[in-house]
Amino acid sequence: MRSFRLAFLACLSILSLSACASRPPEQVAAAKLAFAPEKPTPAADIMSFPGPRRGLAGRAIRVNHESDIVLARGEVALTFDDGPYPGRTSAILDTLDSYGVKATFFMVGSMASAHPGAARAVAARGHTIGTHSQDHRNLSSISFEAAMADIDQGRRNVMAATGSPARFFRFPYLASTPALRQQLASQGIVDVSPTVDSKDYFSSTPDQVRSRAISTLVRRGSGVVLFHDIHQRTVSMLPGFLDDLKARGFSVVRLVPGQDGSAPLVASATPASVPQ
Ligand SMILES: [Zn+2]
Repeated sequence: MRSFRLAFLACLSILSLSACASRPPEQVAAAKLAFAPEKPTPAADIMSFPGPRRGLAGRAIRVNHESDIVLARGEVALTFDDGPYPGRTSAILDTLDSYGVKATFFMVGSMASAHPGAARAVAARGHTIGTHSQDHRNLSSISFEAAMADIDQGRRNVMAATGSPARFFRFPYLASTPALRQQLASQGIVDVSPTVDSKDYFSSTPDQVRSRAISTLVRRGSGVVLFHDIHQRTVSMLPGFLDDLKARGFSVVRLVPGQDGSAPLVASATPASVPQ
């Protein structure tokens, strides 16, 4: 029975999910191809689920590579894409503060330039800064040079607005290419993929987003959850979602860049050496 349960969980863990925002149908195939298969939660961790906790804040995970993000059962990482957005991002920051947890914000360069105050607040309140391209284009559908230029411009603008270096990156629509992933790795940039899609970009009610996210997490046992701080429904559902996590004994881990951000992660990247 136990082995069946573990096998079931392992099967669930390799399911792919939708991209991080509504997208045209022609981009769906590319995004599916680009999505990195998730590593199954180690069996030892599944069996040591600690049960209900008093607080929500969990450990910090130092990340030099996406493979460093190994979540034990009961651990959740929160990520918010596509912002910052005036009013909504700050409301999310207030909620996160009131629950004592930290998240990672994958900002779009043009949004950070347009709303530098909101971008600065995210960094000032201790959250991890990631980037999400300059203009949220499908980077797998344009040339390598144009895609890297877009990524670099996005990073520059987010860093200018936040005053913080940004070593984490997420591809818009999760649409990447091997060459882009290799180039990012060679520059020490970590591509962080979500494993639980809240689908808060659908026209759902806040309660539907909340229940979809929590039920997926309960089924999986852990995950990196994808939200968007540009949607009011996400602002509205977040307190209830965090209540749900707390009631079920989850902890919210914090993803932080590894110690040495200046050194390339892959000294001499070759296609064969680049993790997928
Ligand atoms: Zn996005």
